[in-house]
Amino acid sequence: MPASALLKQHLGVHYPTVTHGEGVFLFDDEGRRYLDGAGGAMTASIGHGVREVAEAMREQAARVAFSYRTQFTNGPAEELARRLTALAPGDLDHAFFVNSGSEATEFAIRAAVGHWRERGRPHKVKVLGRELSYHGMTLGSLSMSGHAARRPDYGSLLHPFPVAPPAHAFRFARPGESEEAYAARAAEAFEREIVAADPGTVAAIIVEPIVGAAGGVLVPPSGYLRRLREICDRLEVLLILDEVITGLGRTGAWFASETEGVVPDLLAVGKGLSAGYTPMAAVLLRTHLVEAIASGSGVAPFGHTFSGNPLGAATCLAVLDHLEAHAVLDNAVERGAQLAAGLRRLAAAHPFVADVRGRGLLWGFEFVRDARTGHPPDPAHQAAAVFVRLCFAEGLIVYPAGIAPLNNAVMLAPPLTIREDEVELLLELLGAALNGMRPEAERWTD
Ligand code: PMP
Repeated sequence: MPASALLKQHLGVHYPTVTHGEGVFLFDDEGRRYLDGAGGAMTASIGHGVREVAEAMREQAARVAFSYRTQFTNGPAEELARRLTALAPGDLDHAFFVNSGSEATEFAIRAAVGHWRERGRPHKVKVLGRELSYHGMTLGSLSMSGHAARRPDYGSLLHPFPVAPPAHAFRFARPGESEEAYAARAAEAFEREIVAADPGTVAAIIVEPIVGAAGGVLVPPSGYLRRLREICDRLEVLLILDEVITGLGRTGAWFASETEGVVPDLLAVGKGLSAGYTPMAAVLLRTHLVEAIASGSGVAPFGHTFSGNPLGAATCLAVLDHLEAHAVLDNAVERGAQLAAGLRRLAAAHPFVADVRGRGLLWGFEFVRDARTGHPPDPAHQAAAVFVRLCFAEGLIVYPAGIAPLNNAVMLAPPLTIREDEVELLLELLGAALNGMRPEAERWTD
């Protein structure tokens, strides 16, 4: 067996060995070049090998890499908190740093529950998510995820939090139903779930403003998130938005919640916060939460050894500097429009591709058995996984999305710094992989 650090290699899955990265490209030890059309896992948002970030990391590591959060605060963490909360909507004026998206959503549970305890409501402990959602692999975050494939493995270890139906018009809107009517119906379905769980026991709900890997870029119908905000206010339930994928520019805005006109009580960010240069994530909190937690017994939601370490924070500051100095969000909007137009052209030429959807530089589509009915292929065909391998063979990285029986979606999330000619190359490689998919798609009709 190989002495590999990656468990899957022990299970017989072969990965090439990456040697370096440059802009939107990664290279392996056999000299192959890959266009990183998924930013790895929707993470490498400023591309690979950015010198200024490497330089900022070197400088900070030489000055002080680590200090512990109950002994010191540090300049980079304070500055990062200041800049993030200034960019965030509403009075999300406080930040707590963790090391991964899972830790962020896990911290959000503890903060939500702690806030209710201090307000004299100790029974409000449930956090409701939705089907087709993913909030992380720790047992609390998995308990909130509607990840039908990953939950059963740990069934009895998870909290039995109920999950609400998703908001995904292509699959679940009724024929002829308006966007507004579907938004209302999907939000009402969530409300019914909260009421059935007993709002007196519900601390919060958690929602990805645009669902990522669990669905393949599910953009909710317009007004849906605003309705959820109203429902939460009415039922005295907190709203957690999981912007681990959508935060920090991925959709062409700093936060997707800003575009939707919604201020959550807690907002989780990860991935693009460090753009992959270091493990780092954060939870932004509204003032009323922090005041409640601070007013009480002094039981803090706690963090982790590396929470807010100076090296991680300095790295994220360098990433933020890069995003601002190079007007990267504007590029995401322009290149996103180019990518979307190209994807729609490819979908028109390949009838087994449907529902091109997305925003900024976060795009997805589904494979269907039949363009007229939109029926998905049998999950046993593993459409997304097969396509990811075809793309890899072309030198293009895309991300498999969806959960069986809807394991038929693909995500694109290239670095937000991608150039016009690189978007054209991405579309060319994707087109070649789609041509390779044709014989596979013919088998789905059986
Ligand atoms: N939330 C969302 C929306 C995610 O996409 C992910 C990771 N794919 C997570 C949380 C968990 O983040 P991590 O893998 O960094 O723990």
